[in-house]
Amino acid sequence: MSKTSDKLLLIKTILSNPQIVKVNPFINMFLIKYMKKFNIVNVGGHLVLHSHLPPVNSQAFSRFIDEHLLAKTQGPTHAQVGITNICPQNCTYCYNKNRTGRIMDKNIIKGVIKDLKDMGVIWLGLTGGEPLLNKDIVEIVDTIGDNCTVKLFTGGYNLTRELASDLKKAGLFYVSISLDHWIEEEHDKIRRCKGSFRTAIEAIDIFNEIGGIHIGVSTVLSRSMFNTGHIEEFVEFMIKANVHEVWLSEVKPAINPLWDKNIIITEEERIELIKLQDWYNKQGQITINYLGHFESGEHFGCNAGHKMVYIDPFGEVSPCVFAPITFGNVNDESVKILFAEMKKHFPPNNCCFVNKNYKLFARHYKDQLPIGKEDTLKMMNEVHFGQMPEFFKLFYK
Ligand code: SF4
Repeated sequence: MSKTSDKLLLIKTILSNPQIVKVNPFINMFLIKYMKKFNIVNVGGHLVLHSHLPPVNSQAFSRFIDEHLLAKTQGPTHAQVGITNICPQNCTYCYNKNRTGRIMDKNIIKGVIKDLKDMGVIWLGLTGGEPLLNKDIVEIVDTIGDNCTVKLFTGGYNLTRELASDLKKAGLFYVSISLDHWIEEEHDKIRRCKGSFRTAIEAIDIFNEIGGIHIGVSTVLSRSMFNTGHIEEFVEFMIKANVHEVWLSEVKPAINPLWDKNIIITEEERIELIKLQDWYNKQGQITINYLGHFESGEHFGCNAGHKMVYIDPFGEVSPCVFAPITFGNVNDESVKILFAEMKKHFPPNNCCFVNKNYKLFARHYKDQLPIGKEDTLKMMNEVHFGQMPEFFKLFYK
């Protein structure tokens, strides 16, 4: 990014959030350095760095400054809520596979969302299953309100122009459409669902026609895709498809068939992906948002259980979508209490909790995921964490 655009970004952010000048100057310097890795994209007046943070000129970003950077609330910044377990796809790496229980109804979901916002959540991901198959999705999005950014993770099933338009009116701004390959047959094979590639592409087209929505594609990278050098071809395909962002994450050892060290990305591969992200972001045609960069020790680290919470479609409360453990169920206890109990076990951490501790999942697993609360608590006596990430060194100073 040029010096002129650096200054412009800084001015725009300060003008949108004048209270930022009260934040610890070392944190502000850290944030500016981090922001310089990305281009600011203007989508319908929203200034977006990347979709893991609210737009910098949004009410949600203002709340991030007020409640987290200034008031240092104990609550999470990020949450994901599974609003259905139904999904037409059958992905090999699905973190919700074979979960059972009493599905959360609309009122429970709305109550959980209200509690999450009270606790400080400024970014809320709706996931599943296929969230568009929840018939109440527009009402759910509508209850979230303007001061919390909503991101929809979807395969595009059930999407019509009318539904996309209703979701936008209700406050949806970020959409992340699942796409794992630029070749139709390959994508459908990974998702074990014929037609899923076409559905995803149609969803991208619909959101493009509606306009004013930030369109991302979320891609779960296997090591083989990375090592065959196919990511570049994939990104080029996405540029042509007119998406704003490619959100890259890796296959994680989240479920029993994946509890294997060979699926975990190596440090060298992680660094290569960061280089790839930086290169594309400098070109400015598309944003690459690699989670392994955001969650690295040099930046914000693993936020699982500390600033991140996942509530699965059955109400189980976990530190992260990929961590197959539960600290209790919102059908029995409020998410506020469950999060506070969970947080005691999770310091900020420069290593991915799931990658570091998946062998313990195998040891405490009893034929059902997530691992129940009692066994989760036993397991927490044995878990390992890394060091404090750079952001939190400044935050807790
Ligand atoms: S456990 Fe891993 S995937 Fe989950 S929030 Fe931490 S770094 Fe991210």
